[in-house]
Amino acid sequence: MPKIKAVLFDMDGVLIDAKDWHYEALNMALSLFGMEISRYDHLVTYDGLPTKKKLEMLTLERGLPEQLHHFINDIKQEFTFQLAYAKCRPTFNHQYALSQLHSKGYRLVSCSNSMRKTMDLMFERAAIKSYFEFYLSNEDVKEPKPNPEMYVSAIRKLNLSPDECLILEDNENGIRAAKASGAHLLTVASTQDVNFENITTRIQEIERAL
Ligand SMILES: [Mg+2]
Repeated sequence: MPKIKAVLFDMDGVLIDAKDWHYEALNMALSLFGMEISRYDHLVTYDGLPTKKKLEMLTLERGLPEQLHHFINDIKQEFTFQLAYAKCRPTFNHQYALSQLHSKGYRLVSCSNSMRKTMDLMFERAAIKSYFEFYLSNEDVKEPKPNPEMYVSAIRKLNLSPDECLILEDNENGIRAAKASGAHLLTVASTQDVNFENITTRIQEIERAL
């Protein structure tokens, strides 16, 4: 009978409450060109997409000149770094969940639409980097989420089958990627839902049903 052997975590909105930092950083960069986006639009349309994708959408929808993408992207990453460095802190619930899962032999991975440098910084600041066997960023795939490529290649790298894996995701783009990979899913509403009890309850539920 297959058992859950690995837990794959999205980063933003799951392990790191970075939604506001991404929003603020992008807006700080866009405001240089009078192109701010509203918090509502960000939550409904842009959240969870890589910055490059968000900029492409702004070009299509609002005529942001394409020549500015590279520049805005660079400034946005710089602002994200500053905000993450100042605001990212270890969270007891996450420390506890990851250390317990790790000591029980679960293999832990993170898959995020962020850049590798951002993942390094946030996981270091949150003091959870050492729990992961590896993580995949948007630089490790051709297509970011909602394409399932990231989860498919992580599961392949783990040398497991999708039904031995549980994915934690918080938003539409990530959930679509997770479902399409064939793995099991735990949808969380916020980083506070990511705790040892919720994860083990979901694993037991899956294993009972198999
Ligand atoms: Mg997310």
